[in-house]
Amino acid sequence: MSPLLKIAVVAGAALIAAGAQAQAFPGSKPITLIVPFAAGGPTDKVARDLAEALRKPLGATVVVENAGGAGSTIGTTKAFRAPADGHTLLVTHIGMATTPTLYRNLSYKVEDFEHLGLINEVPMVVVAKPAMAASNFKELQGWIGENKGRINLAHAGLGSASHLCGLMLQNALKTEMTTVPYKGTAPAMTDLIGGQVDLMCDQTTNTTSQVEGKKIKAYAVSTLKRLATPAVYKDLPTLDEAGLKGFNVSIWHGLYAPKGTPAAVVKTLNDALKAALKDPDFIKKEEGLGAIVTSDGRVNPAEHKKFVADEIAKWAPVIKAAGQYAD
Ligand code: ASP
Repeated sequence: MSPLLKIAVVAGAALIAAGAQAQAFPGSKPITLIVPFAAGGPTDKVARDLAEALRKPLGATVVVENAGGAGSTIGTTKAFRAPADGHTLLVTHIGMATTPTLYRNLSYKVEDFEHLGLINEVPMVVVAKPAMAASNFKELQGWIGENKGRINLAHAGLGSASHLCGLMLQNALKTEMTTVPYKGTAPAMTDLIGGQVDLMCDQTTNTTSQVEGKKIKAYAVSTLKRLATPAVYKDLPTLDEAGLKGFNVSIWHGLYAPKGTPAAVVKTLNDALKAALKDPDFIKKEEGLGAIVTSDGRVNPAEHKKFVADEIAKWAPVIKAAGQYAD
């Protein structure tokens, strides 16, 4: 064979191999969704529902791996270090936009991820241990004032949604509470139900069944609008209405892949995400817990990336004003 022909044959074989590889994704290997919080909490719940909804459009096994701790930064670092082949993805929340300001020495940057799309938005609720005597937010506020220095507020670590909401709550009430960090708000909820901690502000996806079952008490919602559903919240005031003017926080979740994931794989994953977010079972489960499934342009990588950049800019001054930093 002439040298030229040899080169052409080798190049052709390489192209066929590359084509086969691109076509092969996801192949027979499972896809792992890393959740940077404990099992059973809000991020875990959305990831497990999403895993189920992604199986059909991807034609693959999709599993969830919990890597909780340090307000999401441990699991996010793990996803950042994973091979960029589309088989290890990250499901995380607003922490993607708050940790870059909160942590001085993060091992990853937001740009180190391919943004696959926004999954949902979830309001938060201020909840308390079952023995809390206050019957409305005004009375709870009175109790907080009377018990200065003795109140424990549970959260899922610096950078978590519950931490952000707790921080805003303390600032608005001009008080300081003892903050108790957990690897996620599922273990924090267990301690709240048991009365080991007094208060928490968490996503409705974690609080709804506990409030319905009267295992904890709910006092106010974190968004500017009251919640029409789930029904258990319909009489709760917003924090803004209850006197904490301008209080407004809603938690979002997104799907990410490590930077360098091939464009064709990113497209396959994004198409599958779009299909999963239209799955009626997924929508029903999410809405039943108070989440709003994304149906706008933010399911696209470029739009989601812009949204995250806007969120970083939005929350940086709030975090800086609170003077909270970690290494
Ligand atoms: N809800 C948690 C948070 O406060 C995280 C979790 O456990 O999903 O960020």
